[in-house]
Amino acid sequence: MVSDFHTHTSLSDGDLSPIEMVRRAVVNGYTTIALTDHAAIGDMQRIIPEIIQVCAMARNYWDILAIPGIELTHVPARAIAETAAKAKELGAWIVVVHGETITEPVESGTNLAAINSPHVDILAHPGFLTLKEAQLAAAKGIFIEITARKGHSLTNGHVAKTAYQAGARMLVDSDSHTDRDLLTDEFASAVIHGAGLDDVTCQDILTVNPEILVKKILGRYQI
Ligand SMILES: [Zn+2]
Ligand SMILES: [Zn+2]
Repeated sequence: MVSDFHTHTSLSDGDLSPIEMVRRAVVNGYTTIALTDHAAIGDMQRIIPEIIQVCAMARNYWDILAIPGIELTHVPARAIAETAAKAKELGAWIVVVHGETITEPVESGTNLAAINSPHVDILAHPGFLTLKEAQLAAAKGIFIEITARKGHSLTNGHVAKTAYQAGARMLVDSDSHTDRDLLTDEFASAVIHGAGLDDVTCQDILTVNPEILVKKILGRYQI
């Protein structure tokens, strides 16, 4: 029963073709997977139409909700709003923003710009997310990611504590770049507990919050 809203394929720096990634997810017991390759402007125009086609094929023939998305990565903070709007215009169902992880020189202001954009759905690995940012995310319904990805996960404890305090909704994502990164319920639960969160919040993250996000997406788009 895994839902995972952040994965990569060979359309950016992942190992597997988009359709193989979805196939591996089906076999892994996923009910929902979003393909969210890294992009900015330009590459987004190439990648999104391909992801849309692959996800439609997977949904038609397999028992999985394959969601076409994009991860805006190292987009200048002041260009995030317009780029996210463009991604939705190109047909992405979900826009993830590559947040201010401590392991990469992500431009300061990226977290805030993502949270302020109505076209962004998830702020991924936001590093030293501030309480103000988390409160804003809670008010605007932007999901804050607890990541299973090495490196980015170094600040999971801080992110979890801050998002919890602010009442922001959280998700756990794999940020998979290969099939070996895909989640199981057990591992997702371990990542959440490892971030210091309790059982009730863990259940919210694994079941309630993905349902809310999927409803939001399906309300917005027809499949
Ligand atoms: Zn990557
Ligand atoms: Zn990613």
